[in-house]
Amino acid sequence: MIKLVLFDIDGTLVRTGGAGVSAFARAGETAFGVRDGTHGMNFAGRTDTSLVREFFGRHAIAPTMENFQRFFDTYVFLLDHYLGEHHGRVCAGVRDWLAGLARLPAPPLIGLQTGNVRLGAEIKLRHFGLWDAFTTGVFGDDHEDRNQLATVARERGGRLVGTPLRAGEILVIGDTPFDIACGRAIGAKVLAVATGGATLEELKRHRPDWAVRDLTALRAGEICD
Ligand SMILES: [Mg+2]
Repeated sequence: MIKLVLFDIDGTLVRTGGAGVSAFARAGETAFGVRDGTHGMNFAGRTDTSLVREFFGRHAIAPTMENFQRFFDTYVFLLDHYLGEHHGRVCAGVRDWLAGLARLPAPPLIGLQTGNVRLGAEIKLRHFGLWDAFTTGVFGDDHEDRNQLATVARERGGRLVGTPLRAGEILVIGDTPFDIACGRAIGAKVLAVATGGATLEELKRHRPDWAVRDLTALRAGEICD
């Protein structure tokens, strides 16, 4: 039985319509004076921390704690602003899935597993009225290496459940091959959704347990009961 469900955010729960990438690019310009500094960077499936480190490396900015802090302080402020300007949306089936999980006879813990820094994740999900659905999570400021995030999530979830979680009791839901690898890193079951950056065919090649066009294709109870 599934006791912990971990959702990725971008492309899985919501599409921000480019607000995240815009805020990131603008933060580099506002805080460090680098115009178009994110040009050529690949954002999919990365932790925010690793993206900022790449940005610093490309522009010879010292990767000090102080500079990371300065970047993220600026980023979250801009993110809030851009979410209001871009036309984002909640991905198909997400609200029903969350409601379906909560209605199960033994509801699992519902958590986040994302490369977003915690405050960035909260700002995005509050914007769409989803933040309160989650009771636990791991974020891009918990660990820079995305695959390590799953280990942290498993430990955190186990503490909340009150007993260590076995691999088969965790379900990871995400939209990229990175999410599939991340779930596999702890032996979790993986549901891949083609609502983000990868096509259904591409996701299937990475052998998740389930791959669907979007979350309307199957109900929470079909996997988690
Ligand atoms: Mg994603």
